[in-house]
Amino acid sequence: MNRERHLVLRNLTKTFRDGRGNRVVAVNDISLTVYKGEFVTLIGPSGCGKTTTLRMVAGIEVPDSGEILLKDTPITEIPHRDRVMPLVFQSYALFPHMSVYDNIAYGLRLRNTPGDIIAHDVALACQMVNLAGLEHRYPGELSGGQQQRVALARALVLKPEIILFDEPLSNLDPRLRTQTRSAIRRIQHLLKITILYVTHDQSEALTLSDRLIVMQGGSIVQAGTPQTVYRDPATPFVADFIGEANFLDGVVSEITQDTVVITISALPVTLPRTLVYDTIAAGDRVLVAVHPDAIQISRTNTPAGFSGEIESVAFAGPYMEVTIAYEDGWVKATAPEMDEAGTPWLPGQAVYFSFTARRARVFGVEP
Ligand code: ADP
Ligand code: MG
Repeated sequence: MNRERHLVLRNLTKTFRDGRGNRVVAVNDISLTVYKGEFVTLIGPSGCGKTTTLRMVAGIEVPDSGEILLKDTPITEIPHRDRVMPLVFQSYALFPHMSVYDNIAYGLRLRNTPGDIIAHDVALACQMVNLAGLEHRYPGELSGGQQQRVALARALVLKPEIILFDEPLSNLDPRLRTQTRSAIRRIQHLLKITILYVTHDQSEALTLSDRLIVMQGGSIVQAGTPQTVYRDPATPFVADFIGEANFLDGVVSEITQDTVVITISALPVTLPRTLVYDTIAAGDRVLVAVHPDAIQISRTNTPAGFSGEIESVAFAGPYMEVTIAYEDGWVKATAPEMDEAGTPWLPGQAVYFSFTARRARVFGVEP
């Protein structure tokens, strides 16, 4: 990848006063570098500071402290209207009394662009987002997906080097969401635009991004490729938020040079030490995080198997989502519709489950 720095956030902090006058730290000392042509996604639960971060980058909010650099030039206090850094968000913010054409042309007219160039560029942008032929319509005559594509065209027509997105797909139904998702990715590849994207949706983040920045309570808790964040979550929070991991309670029974033995539900499980993320000692309580797709269900027991009972089975399309109650709680597993003998998984059945050791991650628990 091209490693030219495009956007640098350096120690950004932003606080607000809430209704009672108390200080709310929305963004707490975050630093981040986005490289040219990169698709970087801020992901985290509602209220973790994603929008505030994006609004500081856009020049809509000014940080309390810290610095924003665009191609190594400080832009921290330059207002939004003086930056070519369009922000696309979920409420499309189209002008209802203007046609699609005029909505898209708006930014170019503000720049006093000649009419023939506007006509050319608007046509091109419409083509790119599959809106050709709808230029004369008004926003009220368009579907949500089409409106969102007008918003995208309105950003693209400015030929920005960087586009900011704040949950742009969250008002769309699931099918449109995946379609629009692919459109964004295709256009980004085609035009080699840098994108800083915000979402709370893990599948959107995993499929779109070159790099994920996981936020919690105003801070960055992990940054890495989707694969890294999914496979090697830095904390239980990340394991839960990206991939809905199960957490098995365990106690460390033995540590050797290369392995750690963890007792889960009276069963000793030997795991490679490389899966242990925190400093642990024999006797410590730990959480073993395992994604549902790393859990296997069977009718017969194995030496590494836990016994349990199926509590519920849900059809999830390509697989079944099976919840199993066991001595210490519940685990969720993905499974084919039936076992090898062709018998479906049903609530109430006694089953055994085990997990793929290399897919587990071990976290210490505060005593
Ligand atoms: P996210 O986009 O991740 O949901 P936000 O950046 O919108 O989070 O908000 C982060 C925190 O800052 C929240 O606690 C929110 O209530 C608070 N906040 C955001 N904007 C304001 C504001 N203008 N005034 C007061 N509090 C705000
Ligand atoms: Mg937000």
